[in-house]
Amino acid sequence: MTRVLVVEDEPSLVRALEINLKARDYDVDTAPDGAHALRLAAAHPPDVVLLDLGLPDMDGIDVIKELRAWSRASVLVVSARRTSEVKVTALDAGADDYIAKPFSMDELLARLRAAARRIESAKPSDEPAVIVTEDFTLDLPAKKARRDGRDVRLTPTEWHLVEVLVRDSGRLVSHQQLLQEVWGPFHSTQTNYLRVYMAHVRRKLEADPAHPRHFTTAPGMGYRFDP
Ligand code: CA
Repeated sequence: MTRVLVVEDEPSLVRALEINLKARDYDVDTAPDGAHALRLAAAHPPDVVLLDLGLPDMDGIDVIKELRAWSRASVLVVSARRTSEVKVTALDAGADDYIAKPFSMDELLARLRAAARRIESAKPSDEPAVIVTEDFTLDLPAKKARRDGRDVRLTPTEWHLVEVLVRDSGRLVSHQQLLQEVWGPFHSTQTNYLRVYMAHVRRKLEADPAHPRHFTTAPGMGYRFDP
């Protein structure tokens, strides 16, 4: 659900926005001034901020600058100030869009949908949570492995190793990268660790550990996971 923070000191407009947004399944918070807005944005991070510039306690431009220092929310200015100079100032301060008052509710909702789409496409795509191969299944969030219908127990280090390889599925991951990610920066030359732990992982997951199909070795370079 997209969370919208409405920052506006005109109560009738706050009510109109709240009713319209909630009717379209947005999660809505409201703040009547800049100080409240910043506190709420920190406590309950919004996806989009609808921001009036003429606020009783501070200028909306300063609210944008403050938000930009730590918030990733999209900021849509909704203001009666119509000069292009003000629009440029707001956009330069970090606003994402500008709607002049009076506005049509349909236009505001369309701009809001566009902002929400941009946020959605900017989010990192979810990594595959469950990996299914012919021989075994890995449920990464639950840290559960199954082979031949039975649970397989991996130690935390084995899981970590598996996760790093699975994340780069199909690509060679170097010894150094694996050692650094799993054992930390002071072990980057100890490839014997890798041999031992890879042998454990193969014994637990591969159908034929001596001839692994999924966790393969690139001699002298690293390892690769193929689903
Ligand atoms: Ca105002």
